[in-house]
Amino acid sequence: MASTISPVSREFTWSRDPEGYGLSDTGKKVVRSGKKLETYKPLELHENLFGELASTRQTPDGVLNFVKKFGPLTLEGIQSAEGEEVAVVIEAAQTISQLLLANKRKQIPSTLPSRPRTVHLNVRILDPASHQHPFTLVPETLLDAIWLQLADALSANAEIRQCSQCWLWFSAGRGFGRRQDAKFCSAEHRILFNNRKR
Ligand SMILES: [Zn+2]
Repeated sequence: MASTISPVSREFTWSRDPEGYGLSDTGKKVVRSGKKLETYKPLELHENLFGELASTRQTPDGVLNFVKKFGPLTLEGIQSAEGEEVAVVIEAAQTISQLLLANKRKQIPSTLPSRPRTVHLNVRILDPASHQHPFTLVPETLLDAIWLQLADALSANAEIRQCSQCWLWFSAGRGFGRRQDAKFCSAEHRILFNNRKR
């Protein structure tokens, strides 16, 4: 019997500044521009957060674009006045892109960091709204959510490959948005690629 319990909560809520972000401290930090944050549900809206992070350019500008779109990765990035450390985002992008490449080549390179890292998850057994017992794991930060989403895709044997047009990593297969044999992250990029070849 298939399980009716979905262990990863799509209810995970995160914050970002609707007025955007900028670089400070000579490109070492990403700071928010406005005073108020808005909340959104990254796992509900984006099935490919790990692909977006892995494909982020590993430069201050690349990090800035990622944070503008999805918010900072860590609680420090949201709470501290100094903002998000650019180096933290670059390290995460580097590790996940190396991991995806290793997964694609079925070969683990020695350059992959060996240090275990902590992922924070909260277990929610009772849903306060419905009083049902859904048993969900709710990640604490966007970075935790990304690791969880990646673990989900890898354990479900999703095909994780790069778009032939823009090199974005994306997952394909049942329950992962794109068809199993998809070579592009989107229909737009399939059309762009085919027009270019002509
Ligand atoms: Zn693409």
